[in-house]
Amino acid sequence: MASSLPVSAFAASPGQTASSSTGVKNRAPLAPNAFYSLPLGAVRPTGWLRSQLEIQAQGLGGHLDETWPDVGPNSGWLGGSGESWERGPYFLDGLTPLAYLLDDARLKAKAQKYIDWTLNNQQPSGMFGPHSNDDWWPRMVMLKALTQYQEATGDPRVIPAMQHYFDYQLTALPTRGLSDWGKFRWQDEVLSVIWLYNRTGNPRLLDLVHLLHTQGHDWLAQYANFQYKDRITGEKIRSEEESGHKDFGLSTHGVNNGQAIKTGAVWSLVSGSESDRRGVSQMIAELDKYHGLPNGMFSCDEHLAGPNPSQGSELCTVVEYMFSLEQSLGILGDPVLGDRLEKLAFNALPGTLTDDMWAHQYNQEPNQVECSLHRKPWTTDGPESNLFGLEPNFGCCTANFHQGWPKFTASLFMLSQDDGVVAAAYAPCEMRTMVRDTPVHIVEETNYPFHGTVSITVNPASPLAFPLLLRIPAWAKGTTLTVNRQQQPAPESGTFARIERKWRAGDRVEIDFHFEPRVSQGFHDSVAVERGPLVFSYGIGEDWLKLRDRGMTADWQVYPTTQWNYALSLDAASPSHGIVTVEDEMHDRPFSAKGAPVKLHVKGRKVSSWQAEDGVVNPVPQSPVTSDQSEETVTLIPYAAAKLRITAFPQLKT
Ligand SMILES: [Zn+2]
Repeated sequence: MASSLPVSAFAASPGQTASSSTGVKNRAPLAPNAFYSLPLGAVRPTGWLRSQLEIQAQGLGGHLDETWPDVGPNSGWLGGSGESWERGPYFLDGLTPLAYLLDDARLKAKAQKYIDWTLNNQQPSGMFGPHSNDDWWPRMVMLKALTQYQEATGDPRVIPAMQHYFDYQLTALPTRGLSDWGKFRWQDEVLSVIWLYNRTGNPRLLDLVHLLHTQGHDWLAQYANFQYKDRITGEKIRSEEESGHKDFGLSTHGVNNGQAIKTGAVWSLVSGSESDRRGVSQMIAELDKYHGLPNGMFSCDEHLAGPNPSQGSELCTVVEYMFSLEQSLGILGDPVLGDRLEKLAFNALPGTLTDDMWAHQYNQEPNQVECSLHRKPWTTDGPESNLFGLEPNFGCCTANFHQGWPKFTASLFMLSQDDGVVAAAYAPCEMRTMVRDTPVHIVEETNYPFHGTVSITVNPASPLAFPLLLRIPAWAKGTTLTVNRQQQPAPESGTFARIERKWRAGDRVEIDFHFEPRVSQGFHDSVAVERGPLVFSYGIGEDWLKLRDRGMTADWQVYPTTQWNYALSLDAASPSHGIVTVEDEMHDRPFSAKGAPVKLHVKGRKVSSWQAEDGVVNPVPQSPVTSDQSEETVTLIPYAAAKLRITAFPQLKT
């Protein structure tokens, strides 16, 4: 029987108060993180990133509850009789950081209603949430929302409520164990339990961590001997489950795998095991090898679907993969995880939402020539899955996508184990924190990922020595660094450059990333073009046809108005050689086709035999290909700006 120890017995140590403006480090016996996240609100968006969060707030992000009953006034998470499972918590997990990052009173008031209902209606047992549903899984999501809310507000109700719930789980899980989604997503709850342990030191929380691990799916074993190398069809799932492999569908489910990517990092904090730490890169490598797509995602429509760029990826998986990368980057300090995080944030995330963020797809495809009700090649999803709309196919993404931009923003800066400031990913922002008991304000000015210069001004309240760690992406060869215009040693790509000095207010670091176009190879030896963290696509002419109104928004089909079947002509020895870059000024919506601040021109020819059937582009033909068509200049725009696009091209024989 779990007895709840008074929280005061585990009062935070100095510098670890709940609403502290600095990171909270791991308590023994947990292994240390490489980097610690800052409390929600320490990093604030500026520049284009602020505009992007404002677009989200003015779109579905700030209005979903007004037009979608599943998170509206009758939500079970407001005490109503409506949806009482994951949708309320999903929405809160994004609404809460959006509200506090924008310091938006309207959005804070919206989030507060769900938070207050949850905290004020906890049962005497410790269970919380809608009485009509006792699934562990949606509560794992609400815990993520509660921890963010506590960091932003210091609300004293959160920590005792979480402890009470975790004590309840310790008594209840032995007889009503994890199952279904909760069994496959246990590692996300471990993050919340560790969050609380670091603040209270209650040793029973470590018992709960072990119990969750024992009852949860063994993701590390699944990937140590990875079996799911082929496209997983509905028939395959049925036959496997009928022959006794009852978790086959959940093991190969895209969102589950996206969430699972963090497992090795999270569990290594408890196990201290080096092989667990390697689990993250091992999982990413297997997914890339067998299901990898040129937008940085793996295919999941909604089960693992192979490397054909006509397959789709679910939006929930995009934002969950991002969250896994943010957490894993913090724990492991591996810069490559930041490279992938940026690739998803700047391509796959905005690429599957309309520019105004009032509509989204369930599935996006790198080679997407039509979004329509025509038959699609999905493994298990329905015919609406690549429409842009309110809830195409199923409403999980409608509720869950809101966490993408806010959590990315909150993760731009972290603190290192040795009290350094870490630029983990790049976008315009400012950050305020305490470093070695001194207030430090940092201003990052940049148009990254569109333009390659980043300026970071460091303003400690008084002169202060500490290391500044700058992520130098693996693709960033030839990056130059200056401090107060003084050239620094050339940083090595794929590392964190470390600048140690006594910082004085106004000290200015300039990073110049030389954005050379790059070419990557994929399915059937196709080629995709990248520059910095952006992936580029040929933007097909788009005709948006409204299918139906959906309250404050609508569902749309998108039909092509131009041909798209290009093969590219690239110099095999130096593939980026023939690519011409044109940079333009930034506009209000940098991820829209109208405002694209950078374009690439490359030579290509149409390949007549490469066609689409029923709105689905046939697999990109095996390269090299030949063409008797005339040579043209093909203009490529950022992936996200092209809602109809070709991203993986055949390569012309030279
Ligand atoms: Zn979804």
